[in-house]
Amino acid sequence: MRKRRVVILGATGSIGQSARKVARNLPDGMEIVGMSAHSNAAELAAAAAEFPNARVVQTNGHDGEAKLIELATIPEADLVLIAIVGTAGLAPALAAIKAGKDIAVASKEILVLAGEIVMREARQRGVQVLPIDSEHNAIFQCLEGRSPSHVRRLILTCSGGPFRQTSEAELAHVTPEMALRHPTWSMGRKITIDSATLFNKALEMIEARWLFDIEMDRIDVVIHPQSIIHSLVEFVDGSQLAQLSRSDMCFPIQYAVTWPDRVAGSLAPLDLASVGRLEFEAPRTDVFPALRLAREAAAAGGSLPAVLNAANEIAVEAFLSGQIPFPRIWEIVEAAMQAHAVASHPELEELLAADREARATARRLIQAAKASSARAL
Ligand code: NAD
Ligand code: MG
Repeated sequence: MRKRRVVILGATGSIGQSARKVARNLPDGMEIVGMSAHSNAAELAAAAAEFPNARVVQTNGHDGEAKLIELATIPEADLVLIAIVGTAGLAPALAAIKAGKDIAVASKEILVLAGEIVMREARQRGVQVLPIDSEHNAIFQCLEGRSPSHVRRLILTCSGGPFRQTSEAELAHVTPEMALRHPTWSMGRKITIDSATLFNKALEMIEARWLFDIEMDRIDVVIHPQSIIHSLVEFVDGSQLAQLSRSDMCFPIQYAVTWPDRVAGSLAPLDLASVGRLEFEAPRTDVFPALRLAREAAAAGGSLPAVLNAANEIAVEAFLSGQIPFPRIWEIVEAAMQAHAVASHPELEELLAADREARATARRLIQAAKASSARAL
C-alpha cells in the first residue's frame, strides 16, 4: 500500500477528529502533513503536538481563505481531506484539484453549491474525488468495477433523525437541545440539525447527483433507523448491493485514504447477530419537505441548489440561537427558493452570488418572522 500524505481542512471538528484517529491507526498508510482549524486553538495545538511534522494554520483571521488555499496546495500533500462545515472549503478544494491533488470530501455543502464545477475540474485534471459522507462512500464501494449502464438507481439510507416518529404538531415545540440528540451518529452541530430536518438527506441527494453523475429521479431515499446499511445500488436486473458497517465515520475515512486498497486496520467489524434487526420505512415527505425541495432544486438546476444550501445554513444558525422555531427552517428555505430567479448554466461567480443573495433573503425572512411573532405576543 502506498502512504498517503494528507492535509486535513477542519482538523478539529467531528470528521477531523475521526481522520486523526485513522492516521493514528494506520501509521504506514496515512501521514498528516497539514491541518487547519477555525477557532479551536487548544484542540489544534493538541493535534499539532501529536503530528509534529504537519503544517498547521488557524483560519478565523482576516485571511482565512488564503491560508486554506495555501495549505491545500502544499507540495508535500497528495490528498486533501475537506471536513469544514459549510462552503468555506470550496475555494481550497478547487485549488487542490488545480494543483493535481486528489480530494476526499466530507463537506457535502461544497458539492451542493458547485458539484458540477468541482467534478468537471477534477475530470479535466485527472484527479480523484473520494466521498467520505458514509452514504456516498457506500455507493462508491458498491459501484466499483460496474458499468454505469448497469445501474438503475441509487438508494440512500437515512436514520430518520430524532423526530422520525414525532407528530407534525409536536415539531413546533422542538428545542435545539432536543434536535441535537441524534439517535445513531455523533457529529457536528450543523449536520446534526440537518439530520433532524432531513435537509442532510436533501443535501446528500444533490451530492450524489454530482459525485456519481446520475439524474435526480434515479436517486431514492429509504429510512433505516439503525444506520447499519449505509446505502445501496440497484442494478438493471433488479439486484441491489449494499455496504454495511458499524456507524463510525472512521470506516469511510479509512476507505477513502487507502483506496483503491483495503487494509487491515483496527476498526471492529459488524456483528449482525448482536444488531438483531434492521428496519426500513418510507420517509414522511409530507411532514418533512426537505427531500421534495431537493428534487425541486435539482429539477430546476442551475443556481437553485446553491440557494437551498445557503438558506438552510442561515436558518439552522437562527434555530440554534433560538431565533426561530424548528419548522421555520424549511419554511425559510422554501421561501428563499421561491424568491430566487434561477440562473440556468451558472459559472462559479454566479453560484457565489446566488449563495450570497440567498443568505440575505433568509436573514430578511428571519427578521420578518421575529417581528411578526413579537407582534403576536
Ligand atoms: P464540526 O462542526 O464538528 O467541525 C467543523 C470543522 O470546520 C472544524 O474543524 C472547524 O474548525 C472548521 N471550520 C468551521 N467553520 C470554518 C470556516 N469558516 N473556515 C474554515 N474552517 C472552518 O463539523 P463536522 O461534523 O466535522 O462536519 C464537517 C463536514 O463534514 C460537514 O460538511 C458535514 O456535513 C460533513 N459530514 C460530517 C459527518 C460527521 O459524522 N460529523 C458525516 C458526514 C459528513
Ligand atoms: Mg451522510
